[in-house]
Amino acid sequence: MSTSAYQPATDSARTGGTVTDRLVEANQRYAAEFRDPGMDARPVLKVAVVACMDARLDLHAALGLELGDCHTIRNAGGVVTDDVIRSLTISQRALGTRSVILVHHTGCGLETITEEFRIELEEEVGQRPAWAVEAFRDVDQDVRQSMQRVRTSPFLLHADDVRGFVFDVTTGLLREIDPAE
Ligand SMILES: [Zn+2]
Repeated sequence: MSTSAYQPATDSARTGGTVTDRLVEANQRYAAEFRDPGMDARPVLKVAVVACMDARLDLHAALGLELGDCHTIRNAGGVVTDDVIRSLTISQRALGTRSVILVHHTGCGLETITEEFRIELEEEVGQRPAWAVEAFRDVDQDVRQSMQRVRTSPFLLHADDVRGFVFDVTTGLLREIDPAE
């Protein structure tokens, strides 16, 4: 697929400028139609979703979520890092959420790399990152250990409704992971 200047300029937002310019233009169209929903910051469904940042995962569409329904916390892998615990703690203690849903997915990039990635970075830039890569081999097991990290966090108020899933990027279906397996 070409994005050269010879393409008919049917949508200037898609052909001119940088990708950020395109997004800013899209925002202007969005804001032109936007009406203040008058919502509170507290998620309507009292749920926080922790998911991989994968571009193929449209969380709101896949879970039937609407604006204002949930907190969305995303990173590479949907991994429960200290920073995710930080967000969940604020979500529960300051903004009233009670349920946590974890979403990993098929074909995740974190299955294709290893912790060796940190060493490679050190060799390249002279400094090893303090963070773990959090690579995994078995997506089901990684969902299980992620659920356990949430359930055992001393900072969270609600650890009784924590469920984990693998989203299939080819069918759009969620598969629930049994924490006990
Ligand atoms: Zn992923």
